[in-house]
Amino acid sequence: MSQYVQDVIALTCANNPHETEFLQTVTEVLSTLSGVVEKNPKYQKAKILERLVEPERAILFRVPWVDDQGETRINRGYRVKFNSALGPYKGGLRFHPTVNLSVLKFLGFEQIFKNALTMQPIGGSKGGSNFDPKGKSDNEVMQFCQSFMTELCRHIGANTDVPAGDIGVGGREIGYLFGQYKRLRNEFTGALTGKGISWGGSLIRSEATGYGCVYFAAEMQSVIGDSLEGKTCLVSGSGNVAQYCVEKLIHMGARPITMSDSSGYIHDPGGITQDKLEWVMDLKNNRRGRIQEYAEKFPGATYHETDRGADCNPIWQLDAKCAFPCATQNEINAKDAQNLINAGVKLISEGANMPTTNEAIGVLQSGGVALGPAKAANAGGVAVSALEMVQNSIRTAWTREEVDERLKEIMQGVFRQCAEAAHEYAKPGDYVAGANCAGFVRVGDAMLDQGVV
Ligand code: NDP
Repeated sequence: MSQYVQDVIALTCANNPHETEFLQTVTEVLSTLSGVVEKNPKYQKAKILERLVEPERAILFRVPWVDDQGETRINRGYRVKFNSALGPYKGGLRFHPTVNLSVLKFLGFEQIFKNALTMQPIGGSKGGSNFDPKGKSDNEVMQFCQSFMTELCRHIGANTDVPAGDIGVGGREIGYLFGQYKRLRNEFTGALTGKGISWGGSLIRSEATGYGCVYFAAEMQSVIGDSLEGKTCLVSGSGNVAQYCVEKLIHMGARPITMSDSSGYIHDPGGITQDKLEWVMDLKNNRRGRIQEYAEKFPGATYHETDRGADCNPIWQLDAKCAFPCATQNEINAKDAQNLINAGVKLISEGANMPTTNEAIGVLQSGGVALGPAKAANAGGVAVSALEMVQNSIRTAWTREEVDERLKEIMQGVFRQCAEAAHEYAKPGDYVAGANCAGFVRVGDAMLDQGVV
């Protein structure tokens, strides 16, 4: 690792001592950039790395709301505007009890590179709250969203910062957030993406992250002269990304056999079919139930409860060829990585953000597993969000086929950039380094052009 990179990592650790998740991603990204910065001293001269690791602005605010019992509740809201070198800030909102500044800085930092890889004109940001929508009534979710947006609306806008969904923020939450934004600002603009189709949303936005993650995997397979057809696949999660990842795997003739939530996972050796998936979508998106019910509904499937004291995740021990982690960060540790290799997995495409620990990345790469990193493999979601912004600006709506075709082309472009940058700055097939280097060069050059800001 170059001295410059080591110094910036050390500086970031010293400046943010308690931000574990943020330091994890900064270490992962910067440690792959030595080749680029050594070849191009201009980045060090202009202190691009030092500037990149500082958000341009981070906002923290109180979110008071009243629950169904008339009790006043207080949550914390955030928006971390990391980098606007390439365009207006863009990145999702996460509502989950584990949300804190470190988690949002990790997500915002990742978002900079991901958005750059899509080749769309968007900067990187992320936001959210420690509010937990699980177990809340629709009215409570609306009360919270309205209070959250009452503050956030001062900081966002179609040309400033455009939030979307993430964990705990789906169509229902975006609807309530948009309604309050419109009411307070008295304007109907594309200040949020992931909107309902009848009021400015883009077709394929819901599907985009999961579909894109599978398109990326298909590209990884095609360079080795293979495809996803007939491959047994492990998928974690059962939310937005997991659902559409499973759907696209089914379309491509693969055989997804697992899904999960934070309580446990289901294993369906016969394969999750379209009918079963539609049942899961109703369970998760409408009835808001637990994945356990799948095993009660479909004979042959089994349910395995999460053991919180375990040192590994049993979902990654099942025999398969491909794995698609689509739940949350750090769901594959070094032991899981070894289990995946032992189970015969040759390809991983990350639907979730930072699902693999840095140690696990090393184990997988040494074991010859092709690893599609999140900032590339799950870029389809934000890419279609950017397409939603375009459609809103020109007041039109493209067809499903048109958006899906653009998504596929964007994912092919993302893959191409990762493969080429891996070749140029790291080693062929190292898509982790390739994604970081390609994203960095695009953002770093724009920052150089724009002077010291
Ligand atoms: P959802 O809220 O729709 O689903 C999240 C899923 O992950 C649920 O099944 C949830 O289970 C599970 N999960 C969440 N936290 C944990 C945990 N700590 N342990 C185990 N399981 C957990 O979110 P999304 O599908 O939108 O997001 C999933 C991942 O994809 C996240 O990493 C997100 O950042 C990333 N992503 C999402 C994009 C999008 O467009 N939505 C775009 C790019 C990346 P439970 O219900 O029990 O909590």
